[in-house]
Amino acid sequence: MATCPACNHDVATPFFLNLDGWRHLVCPYCRARLELKPPGSFVLGPLIAPLFVLARHGRIYEVIAFVFMFATIFLMLLESVRPKVRLRKRPLPKPTIRLNIDGPSN
Ligand SMILES: [Zn+2]
Repeated sequence: MATCPACNHDVATPFFLNLDGWRHLVCPYCRARLELKPPGSFVLGPLIAPLFVLARHGRIYEVIAFVFMFATIFLMLLESVRPKVRLRKRPLPKPTIRLNIDGPSN
């Protein structure tokens, strides 16, 4: 479940790794096109490897590396349970030429 940023209704979200489901996600209440917001915890992922290199230098670094790794995994799980969504930007650019069909006739 996620909250629609346009109408604040709860929207059923597809499985985290179901990319095709995410691509076609539309809010059933206001028809807004939604997309998955990249989870913040994924930024922490690449930091795990250098921490384990540092862990070879001492016990304390080893403990820090393990705590950091488990905290990152925990945050990733937490964010995958309740993902954040944002409004999808329109893929088509605004037309530069506007036809004045609905303009006043006289
Ligand atoms: Zn909505």
